[in-house]
Amino acid sequence: MLRSAAVIRLAGIPASPGVALGQAFVVDRRRARVPRYHLEPEGIARELARLNAATRLAADQLTAIRESLGEGEQGLILDAQKMMAMDPTLQAGAAALVEEELLNAEWAVRRTFRDISEKLGGSSKGDAGEDAFFAERRNDFEEVCDRIVHNLAGEAQSLLAGPVPDGSIVVAYDLPTADAAVLLASGRVRGLVIEFGSKTSHTSILARALEVPCVVGTEQAVEKCKTGVVVALDGDTGEVVISPEQNELQRVEAARLRAESRGALLLEQRDLPACTQDGRTVSLCANIEFPEEVPSVLSHGGEGIGLYRTEFLYLNREELPSEDEHFRAYSSILTAMGNRPVTIRTLDLGGDKLPIGHRSHEANPALGLRAIRLTQKHPALFRTQARALWRASRIGNLRILLPMITFIAELREAKAQLAAARAELVAEGVAVADEIPLGVMIETPAAAMCADRLGLECDFFSIGTNDLIQYTLAIDRQNRDVAHLYRPLHLAVLRLLHHCLGGARAAGIEVSMCGEMAGDPAYALVLLGLGIDTLSMSPADIPKVKRVLRGATLSDAKAMLDAAMSFGSTEEIEKFVHAEMARRFPELAS
Ligand code: PEP
Ligand code: MG
Repeated sequence: MLRSAAVIRLAGIPASPGVALGQAFVVDRRRARVPRYHLEPEGIARELARLNAATRLAADQLTAIRESLGEGEQGLILDAQKMMAMDPTLQAGAAALVEEELLNAEWAVRRTFRDISEKLGGSSKGDAGEDAFFAERRNDFEEVCDRIVHNLAGEAQSLLAGPVPDGSIVVAYDLPTADAAVLLASGRVRGLVIEFGSKTSHTSILARALEVPCVVGTEQAVEKCKTGVVVALDGDTGEVVISPEQNELQRVEAARLRAESRGALLLEQRDLPACTQDGRTVSLCANIEFPEEVPSVLSHGGEGIGLYRTEFLYLNREELPSEDEHFRAYSSILTAMGNRPVTIRTLDLGGDKLPIGHRSHEANPALGLRAIRLTQKHPALFRTQARALWRASRIGNLRILLPMITFIAELREAKAQLAAARAELVAEGVAVADEIPLGVMIETPAAAMCADRLGLECDFFSIGTNDLIQYTLAIDRQNRDVAHLYRPLHLAVLRLLHHCLGGARAAGIEVSMCGEMAGDPAYALVLLGLGIDTLSMSPADIPKVKRVLRGATLSDAKAMLDAAMSFGSTEEIEKFVHAEMARRFPELAS
């Protein structure tokens, strides 16, 4: 193994969880140089023949890769790429440029890519203003065009020069989906460090689907890393260490081995209910930001989607997503989830989480025009979403969730808006469900305190502890300087939760929790004791929480909660709960 002199630490975006350690295999991808020249008219026929042959070859190559992959998401992506390669629009567009503007075939393919991708809503990969859906299609389309250009130039197609050694950490500027699919499916890759991309890029999606730890957006990784040096990466934190010290190596390797055997053990219970030993069942669902996360939800035993944060459809783009874009996202999730519940939250934008052109300049964005307040000020925003939700309402088991409800009037107004959107669609002859269960997020102390009354006017609650704790303890959840005061076990938080659950029970409705507190196994017994019906979390957290619930009894959990709430200070409560959990579940404490 090569060891380079200095330890280098890079920070990226955690894209697929898990720790990985191995030797780097650096893929320095540079976009194929495209020769550009004008043809003589008599060269047109020959150029069209070259174009045809290169396109057919691309389709054949994609078929061969597809056949080597078997079932799974990676195969579907390659199917889509193959269809793009054979799409007459690409062929006809490039052929027209050859015939009419006398461009050589490589140039014509690139120009066609540019023209079509501009129509799809952006100019090139990575630009602000892209939306996730079209960005992914454009990435696929660009890879197909790259492939055709490579074929025209007679270059070897794969950017991976030779086989990747078993156990490698692949470090790349950008990894085309076809290469990523082959690599990840080969089982030879332990981890990925990619300079380009985001959580939605196909490589990240594939890494998550195939459970390969991955960090993206890691600037300068290719420049700083050489093939053969040791690399450690943490897909939960986004940390990448090139040439770690010996003691760090040992630490990472031990953590990896522990996590691996724990994960495997935990997944054995995937299909079992999260039922306590005295018969109390809690439903375990998942939070998602993108439809592409659904396979991971299912593979971790998620019983439904407890929270789909639709605001991710709005970010990093100039224009608002259309009703059809909403509909496509919702229907793909509902279809993939079958009859399992899918809870779609109406957009929770606000403060700096706004589409460009709608930016506010509030002094306290967290206390400002966000979530339901924003959509009630701009009803057209809500109407688009409401129409898409009704259009998707007959596909699966849809539930709607309203964020940041503080006043009962907000709930009533949202109901009236939803009813109006339904009436519009019915008048247009669109088939919609009779009703969709409507939930309220409990994210403000006001909502928690009025739960008994709110509960009479909605079908379920979902407690958003991320905000509820922020507003209860007056701790800005974004502010590093007060992060140590962000404490879920503060007595005030526990009392509010208790009060809220009491209100829900009085109103006869179910309560879910979808804040981060729900996915931390250290809090699972406290939440069980409080009487939560559903916990919704990142898919990878589901097995750990299930382990705790299946290893406990409701009566124990209640006794533990009572004892915890008898202390006054947060430190005492924390110490007690953590000691109890470590005693009962030593394997999770590590
Ligand atoms: C929450 O506040 O707990 C929640 C789930 O919503 P978000 O994190 O999207 O604000
Ligand atoms: Mg929130």
